Amino acid sequence: MARLDGKRALITAAGQGIGRASALAMAAEGAQVFATDINPDALAALAQDSDGRIETFAMDVLNADSVNQGVARAVPDVLFNCAGFVHAGSVLDATDEDMDFALDLNVKSMFRTIRAALPGMLERGTGSIINMSSACSSIIGAPNRFVYGTSKAAVIGLTKSVAIEYIASGVRCNAICPGTVESPSLHERLRATGDYDKAMTEFIARQPMGRIAKAEEIAALVVHLASDESAFTTGQPYIIDGGWSG
Ligand code: NAD
Repeated sequence: MARLDGKRALITAAGQGIGRASALAMAAEGAQVFATDINPDALAALAQDSDGRIETFAMDVLNADSVNQGVARAVPDVLFNCAGFVHAGSVLDATDEDMDFALDLNVKSMFRTIRAALPGMLERGTGSIINMSSACSSIIGAPNRFVYGTSKAAVIGLTKSVAIEYIASGVRCNAICPGTVESPSLHERLRATGDYDKAMTEFIARQPMGRIAKAEEIAALVVHLASDESAFTTGQPYIIDGGWSG
């Protein structure tokens, strides 16, 4: 029996990177996966790569109606809130708009999805909510990541607040805190520095293992937290950072 047999899993930002890898990993473990994103081409490619096993549809986590419709369609036992955006800059570089956007996409999006999915989970007496934070959060500070680190720290607070409220209900809520992970947006961020090679060398240098993570390595933790093998775990920020914060 696979670890996620019988579970329905809704994933945000599943078009690429960690979300995509997690969709494939959860499907391989037997879950019925509902992979969502705002990029239809990426979703179409994922559906094809899964040989039609993964159901994909557009869901914009910035829009409450879109989220409510997506949750009503998926009726999830597992909710993986993966959507997030990296703002580059210090406190003196950030505008009000930068902060509002990051808090909306990185934090308030989870408020929207959880608000929509939780009543059904409580009714069924089971559920696992997994929120994407980062090692760069309340765990450690990173230079040039003021808005990002602030928003990802808020994800840990949100996670603990949800976990404690429903601790005896069968619904769990945990956060994932990765170090730097191979993904399409990472390459964009490296290119945006103007010196891709230097930026990549710096990212690798802060990972004591001498490499960045593969998205599949993060997906393996997502599967664990989604499955009943983690049934005694809630309210935790899971650091998976190759020793960056160690
Ligand atoms: P990514 O940034 O490459 O992809 C992000 C996806 O989010 C894209 O497919 C995009 O279309 C989608 N998206 C953007 N806005 C959306 C919206 N409004 N609604 C729904 N989907 C939307 O993927 P990644 O680098 O794997 O990052 C995924 C998550 O992991 C993010 O929350 C990120 O902050 C976090 N994270 C990433 C790293 C890393 O180094 N890559 C490290 C720690 C944490």
